[in-house]
Amino acid sequence: MKNFDVLIIGGSAAGLSCALVFGSAMNKPFAKNKKIGIITHQKASALQNAELNNVLGFKKGTKGCDILNEGLEQLSSNYPQIIQIDNEKVLNISNEGDFISVKTNKGNYLASKIVVTTSPAKPAVIKGLENFVKPHPTIPAFKDKIMLKNVDHIVTNGIYVAGVIAGWRSQYAIAAGSGTLVATDILTEWNDGNHTMIHDVIE
Ligand SMILES: Cc1cc2nc3c(=O)[nH]c(=O)nc-3n(C[C@H](O)[C@H](O)[C@H](O)COP(=O)(O)OP(=O)(O)OC[C@H]3O[C@@H](n4cnc5c(N)ncnc54)[C@H](O)[C@@H]3O)c2cc1C
Repeated sequence: MKNFDVLIIGGSAAGLSCALVFGSAMNKPFAKNKKIGIITHQKASALQNAELNNVLGFKKGTKGCDILNEGLEQLSSNYPQIIQIDNEKVLNISNEGDFISVKTNKGNYLASKIVVTTSPAKPAVIKGLENFVKPHPTIPAFKDKIMLKNVDHIVTNGIYVAGVIAGWRSQYAIAAGSGTLVATDILTEWNDGNHTMIHDVIE
């Protein structure tokens, strides 16, 4: 059983953006000994069939499925301290005292905080999160999608949500921004409430 300070569930626009910001913060004193992981089961991502011509910085014809693969490589090469748990599907989440227990089809993990960035499809709801589900407010009703109730991305103690499943409209940049926001919120908390941005600068 591995223990994490933060375990991100889902490795698409929201999850990988969240992980990249944590990775870039690992040399800060308030984040130095933190253990961050991401479960990167990629099959159910909306990106699998997307072509992204309207996202700043992406070349015309950029395929979402390529971003899913390249994003994993970007994370592992830039920030190898972030533990990638590949090809595992989360089945169940429960409270274990001060920790959240995360059970996948291959293993069990404990984390102080989790960030749920899974897809908003109904059958994909992870056991243990059912009580937080409500109809998605910004995706057309006939698509029958869901979100997790939250206030500023916090579902309940220790459980954050980011991306489309947080209730945002389905656009790549919005999902990525939501994951980024959650990472900086948690970093700000670790930094004793001092607002935290992680910026690299040209030398
Ligand atoms: C056909 C199509 C075209 C699109 N075109 C555009 C476009 O042109 N421009 C644009 O801005 N946006 C576009 N989008 C929208 C964009 O793809 C989404 O807004 C974005 O992918 C949302 O990111 P996300 O991280 O919130 O969720 P997702 O991309 O849905 O990722 C969810 C992640 O969670 C994982 N996951 C799900 N369940 C589990 C589980 N139980 N355990 C572990 N992991 C799990 C999935 O495998 C995936 O990695 C398009 C979407 C589609 C479907």
